[in-house]
Amino acid sequence: MSDTKDQFTMQDPTKQYPQPPFERQPQSAPGLAKQMNPQPDHGETSYKGFGRLAGRRALITGADSGIGRAVAIAFAREGADVALNYLPSEEADAREVVRLVEAAGRKAIALPGDIGDEAFCTELVDQSIERLGGLDILVNVAGKQTYVDNIAELPSSQFEATFRTNVFAMFWLCKAALPHLPPGATIINTTSIQSYQPSPGLLDYASTKAAITAFTHALAKQVVGRGVRVNAVAPGPVWTPLQPSGGQPQEKVEKFGSEVPMKRPGQPAELAPVYVLLASQESSFVTGEVYGVTGGNHLT
Ligand code: NAD
Ligand code: MG
Repeated sequence: MSDTKDQFTMQDPTKQYPQPPFERQPQSAPGLAKQMNPQPDHGETSYKGFGRLAGRRALITGADSGIGRAVAIAFAREGADVALNYLPSEEADAREVVRLVEAAGRKAIALPGDIGDEAFCTELVDQSIERLGGLDILVNVAGKQTYVDNIAELPSSQFEATFRTNVFAMFWLCKAALPHLPPGATIINTTSIQSYQPSPGLLDYASTKAAITAFTHALAKQVVGRGVRVNAVAPGPVWTPLQPSGGQPQEKVEKFGSEVPMKRPGQPAELAPVYVLLASQESSFVTGEVYGVTGGNHLT
């Protein structure tokens, strides 16, 4: 993408980004954006902010790469300070995000650690509040996806780890954050089209995404009375390290995105504007909603 284009530049969306076939590119989980080919677009050169989140304080999980990185860049350019969580092995990707947030003139607080642990989740919220001076936005983006063809080969340890990362952590983080969230605050969860149209090889993952969707609907109704909104984003295929690092078999990485009407995967930069909308007061009457960003497949 050239420096003169931003997220508002009119163009044909089917030709805006790379289409399959892609090279096979195995990495071990959680993978690094740095090692992907082509490089994902997180909005580094394109995202233009307008102060839509001026002065807000946000905690974003999975903020080192993929959708979380694009959200961190967009939030910073919209005027928010951000706390960034990721796994310690992703420090190289996270450094890049810290640099980009600081280049936008905002605070970036790096808080690496495993959110599969309740005590760490509580500590993550406490540290974010202490170092940002409060919390207005919680964005749950972190996720684990490991493709396994056959239930007979799906170990209980994986089933549990996927639920810990995708569902339990969201519960622990929401629970720890809510007592501190002021009216006007927002929570945004990351579900998936897999919540609605599960793939056979993503038995555990798709089940966690259905849980995230239901959790979002229920929590939204529970906390609306205190002026806190809760929504979710449901991406279709997006070009991030989640996929080549075991989220899909390599033969599916080669044709990743070909099954959607747009015939290409989305890029993280195409998700960020929806998170910005749901975080900002512009979406004041939107709660308990799931916003699909799928390249044309339905959330049904
Ligand atoms: P990604 O690999 O860039 O991001 C996932 C992040 O999760 C990792 O960077 C890592 O920091 C974090 N993570 C994983 N396990 C963790 C743990 N135990 N503790 C702390 N952090 C942990 O990939 P992405 O595609 O941007 O994924 C972001 C979200 O989007 C996930 O919830 C994923 O399920 C969802 N999603 C992705 C796609 C897609 O096609 N890429 C589609 C639908 C939904
Ligand atoms: Mg990562």
